[in-house]
Amino acid sequence: MRIGVFGGTFDPPHVGHLIAAADAHRALGLDRLLFVPSAVPPHKRSTVRASARLRLEMVRAAIAGDGRFAADDLELRRSGPSYSVDTLRALKEREPAGELFFLIGADNLRELPGWHRPHEIVRLATLVVLSREGEGPGGGAGPFPARHVAVTRVDVSATDVRARAARGEPIRYLVPEAVRAVVEREGLYRGPSTCE
Ligand code: ATP
Repeated sequence: MRIGVFGGTFDPPHVGHLIAAADAHRALGLDRLLFVPSAVPPHKRSTVRASARLRLEMVRAAIAGDGRFAADDLELRRSGPSYSVDTLRALKEREPAGELFFLIGADNLRELPGWHRPHEIVRLATLVVLSREGEGPGGGAGPFPARHVAVTRVDVSATDVRARAARGEPIRYLVPEAVRAVVEREGLYRGPSTCE
């Protein structure tokens, strides 16, 4: 069983995430790709807006009916933000025969050496760097072996989606309709920060 692990705040999930995930699923021949919404890391506390419950609901809505993808709430069930290494360890325990592929954006690669226990991360999983067209492979991962997967360039960010929603502009097509419905229903990203 080849399992992809795609972490993020997903505040909200958008088409950039989904297209990158679909490209990675195919390129790596994955059986399943897990979207793993993170508890809010300290450095994002000022920008993450939707609660963990709603971010998970939006991820589930975004991938509903797509058998390639699943949402996993294991980081949200722990107290406080999780280290990636702990998430990978937990997944490995759950599926000892599974081969894990840990997906990160090329923009995150530079930070890897500063992460908690990076050597163990690359022992537990194949590190996969998602390089958007024109972005280049983003250099190496220092001493860490990484596989590079080219993904379709879709320049949408959650920051941009939130900014548009805050200005009352349409976000249709930037996020799946089911995600837009949650944003509308909850009035997300409009008022002052309401985070966990
Ligand atoms: P924010 O704008 O709030 O920082 P984001 O859009 O970058 O959010 P995250 O939830 O932080 O979304 O991203 C999760 C993962 O998805 C990261 O590894 C990030 O590099 C990747 N990612 C985000 N946007 C895209 C995109 N448009 N195409 C490919 N990968 C993306």
